[in-house]
Amino acid sequence: MQFIDLAAQQRRLRQTIEANLRAVLDHGQYIMGPEVAALERRLAEFVGVRHAIGCASGTDALLMALMALGIGPGDAVFTTPFTFFATAEVIRLLGAVPVFVDIDPATQNLSAGALEEAVLALETADARRHPLPRQALSLEPRAVLTVDLFGVLADYDGVGRVAKQHGLAVVQDAAQSFGAELRGERSCRQGLVGCTSFFPAKPLGAYGDAGMCFTDDEALAADLDSIRQHGKGSHRYEHIRLGLNGRLDTLQAAVLLAKIEIFPEELELRQAAADRYQELLAPAGDAFVLPAVPADRRSAWAQYSLLAASEEARSAALAALTAATIPYAIHYPLPVHRQAALANLGYRPGDFPVAEDHARRIFSLPMHPYLRKEDQEQVAAALLGLAARE
Ligand SMILES: *Cc1c(COP(=O)(O)O)cnc(C)c1O
Repeated sequence: MQFIDLAAQQRRLRQTIEANLRAVLDHGQYIMGPEVAALERRLAEFVGVRHAIGCASGTDALLMALMALGIGPGDAVFTTPFTFFATAEVIRLLGAVPVFVDIDPATQNLSAGALEEAVLALETADARRHPLPRQALSLEPRAVLTVDLFGVLADYDGVGRVAKQHGLAVVQDAAQSFGAELRGERSCRQGLVGCTSFFPAKPLGAYGDAGMCFTDDEALAADLDSIRQHGKGSHRYEHIRLGLNGRLDTLQAAVLLAKIEIFPEELELRQAAADRYQELLAPAGDAFVLPAVPADRRSAWAQYSLLAASEEARSAALAALTAATIPYAIHYPLPVHRQAALANLGYRPGDFPVAEDHARRIFSLPMHPYLRKEDQEQVAAALLGLAARE
């Protein structure tokens, strides 16, 4: 059993992918070839926004979005500590400071209530109200970087209200939620800019690194296009700002053009696999908290993650999976505010208790569109056997 089975998908698409790659080898436009613009049009339409700007990775998508908003030293960007490191890394790379906001235990995404507290605490420099970074006194609140963890869209109604009230731009880290929905609207359009990743293991994955920014704002789209090409102006050797070499590879665009054709069906298959896990694992009762998707949302099921009752219970669950040769992963074992690379922000253990608690208890099961029922039954048997012994 594979944690993510990319080979099963490739068996379906191999011929189309090879034909698409061959077309690139024939025309030879490896940088910004026609496949890049074709993919941008296709995915802008899929998401339902006016502009899509392909780039080199999900991390670059986030970095470009913050650069386009002019985020830099002295700026505060509110974000969740329960995410992949890149979310906070890009804020810090620009010299800005991540102000962490604890998660809602039900959805594991940034809590809008806690966000409001964090903004007010920062405005009044009151660290008793909310844990603040060491640099808090000199920070200007600029943006909130939401994360759609495991494929479920964050609370954009709540976050949007707070953001509007305090003049914050909403940037969406949709690296895990491409294809997800909130009230029938697809992911990547809930903020001013939506940023996604096509890392091979994401819901829509390339065969290498790739990413994309989405926005309805035309000026912002033009800035993102400039930033991904060394801050170019009206021609290639005119540079009007500092940018990146952040372009989307033509070959990766060619792969993604093949994969997007079956992506809606794959989302259905992921949903069916998730439904099957929910059913198979229901008898575990209180031993594991199963993922709960709010009624107005559809998950892209980037991960299917359970919460064990305690850290010890998680160790026992992982041992049971190992004994049955079932692969698993932990997303994420250490919340971002506890990472050594961010030590100079001065956050302390215990600052974000919900994220820290979930990091001790969370684990992810195999999840992909081609997961077999028999394999899921085997996973459930390993975990239920454990629950029965307790
Ligand atoms: C994967 C991921 C990223 C980074 O995307 P890359 O394409 O690997 O650079 C950023 N944020 C989150 C939440 C992710 O899961």
